[in-house]
Amino acid sequence: MMNDLMDFDEVLARFEPVIGLEVHVELSTASKMWCGCSTTAGAEPNTHVCPVCLGLPGSLPVVNQSAIEAAIRIGLMLNCSIASWCRFARKNYFYPDMTKDYQISQYDEPIAFDGTVTIDVGGEPFTVPIERAHMEEDAGKLTHIGGSGRIQDADYSLADYNRAGVPLIEIVTKPVTGAGARAPEVARAYMEFLRDAVKALGVSDARLERGNMRCDVNVSLMPIGSEVLGTRSETKNVNSLRTVEESVRYEMRRQGAILAAGGRVKQETRHWNEAGYTTPGRSKEEAEDYRYFPEPDLVPVAPDAAWVEQLRESLPENPVSRRSRLRAAWGLADREFDDVVGVDGALDLIDATVAAGASPAGARKWWMGELARRANEQGCGLDELTITPKQVAEIQDLVETGALTDRLAREVFDGVLGGEGTPAQVIEARGLAVVSDDGALAEAVQAVLAANPDIVAKIRDGKTAAAGALIGQVMGRLQGKADAARVRELIMEACA
Ligand code: ADP
Ligand code: ZN
Ligand code: MG
Repeated sequence: MMNDLMDFDEVLARFEPVIGLEVHVELSTASKMWCGCSTTAGAEPNTHVCPVCLGLPGSLPVVNQSAIEAAIRIGLMLNCSIASWCRFARKNYFYPDMTKDYQISQYDEPIAFDGTVTIDVGGEPFTVPIERAHMEEDAGKLTHIGGSGRIQDADYSLADYNRAGVPLIEIVTKPVTGAGARAPEVARAYMEFLRDAVKALGVSDARLERGNMRCDVNVSLMPIGSEVLGTRSETKNVNSLRTVEESVRYEMRRQGAILAAGGRVKQETRHWNEAGYTTPGRSKEEAEDYRYFPEPDLVPVAPDAAWVEQLRESLPENPVSRRSRLRAAWGLADREFDDVVGVDGALDLIDATVAAGASPAGARKWWMGELARRANEQGCGLDELTITPKQVAEIQDLVETGALTDRLAREVFDGVLGGEGTPAQVIEARGLAVVSDDGALAEAVQAVLAANPDIVAKIRDGKTAAAGALIGQVMGRLQGKADAARVRELIMEACA
């Protein structure tokens, strides 16, 4: 379904965009929010369930302490105030993925509130005001069989409650104004910041493509000069950095066209379609519809002030400061560094490889080249390859000392990734050491020169480019295990 769209620049000439981002982060605690069931994904359906997370009558929830700790640490990372006392709330609604018919969430007493984060938007700082971060639980997963795959025209639906009760932290911004043309990039950079922050905290796997983080993207426009917020749309469950950015841009253009034609934007939820547009979902409930009330089955949460201070002191480095520190320390070209930042996990892996002794340029070369290519082939994340930063540093060291050529190093990667053992074991088993013994090299060079008098004559004539063919032949004789620069030297010496 296509909507009328206004040109992006025209939107900016007439309106000020306002965005609001609600990000759900799935925590990586071992057990669920209110029971001891495992949170591990990918198990047989309905095997990680118990009376509590199935919502059976009479069962009672008990709060997960690690989830509270994670919520507080996230709140602190966002410079929020931490509630000294707060309660959970029941959010009542009916949907088959939530058998209790209510979700335990927080409403007017979030654990963390009133923060700000300064993010990096294409090299410029931008401050995003944070409304709150609160704790809640995830719902089960429905799979609709038949029809379009949506519930409306399905033949039947399958319910898996393994995910029901997995702890979530919802982080909500205040309305973000003043971003202007950068609003789409601000949304993306903010999501990227949250991803890096929760990863640094170690509280979530933070894999957007697996749904560990999802963003509801609120967008509205107000006429330039106005102070009154316009009506927003809310695009639900956007789950990649790219689509967070695109959905803001799209909604700005869609709403611009409606307002310019004298229409009114409807307050509604919308869906993002991979083809690059949004379609309407349901019209938005008001808070009253949920009949929020304090959860009677759980005691209030009252974190000890000294504990909160201790958590504050042990926070990891802020991702924005870390990036600028590494950008300066590594001395890579800006484009190279930006590429690293753009690949999930690459910054951490290169950092660890440098910590293990490799040069930043060497570490970058392997992770962003050879290893990125292999991860791509295997359809896995860079950090899921079965090679450690320490091993990459070892291999790079052997290349730098001349014990391996780049080509041999790639073979070592083959072996290590193929489960043949450590780099040293692979080198030993496959016989991958460089032939550095000048005697063996000279012998191979002599044989090749004798077999190619015509090329030798050309080189003697000054056509040194012809040496390439000879280097190739020498490498062939030595199964590629020679240092090409040394081979060239020997050939040039012999032809002099
Ligand atoms: P709901 O849960 O109903 O979506 P919330 O108030 O929890 O409502 O969250 C709405 C999000 O949208 C928040 O990030 C808020 O700052 C933002 N927001 C509120 N009003 C507007 C608006 N007019 N335009 C853009 N964003 C808005
Ligand atoms: Zn359970
Ligand atoms: Mg919302």
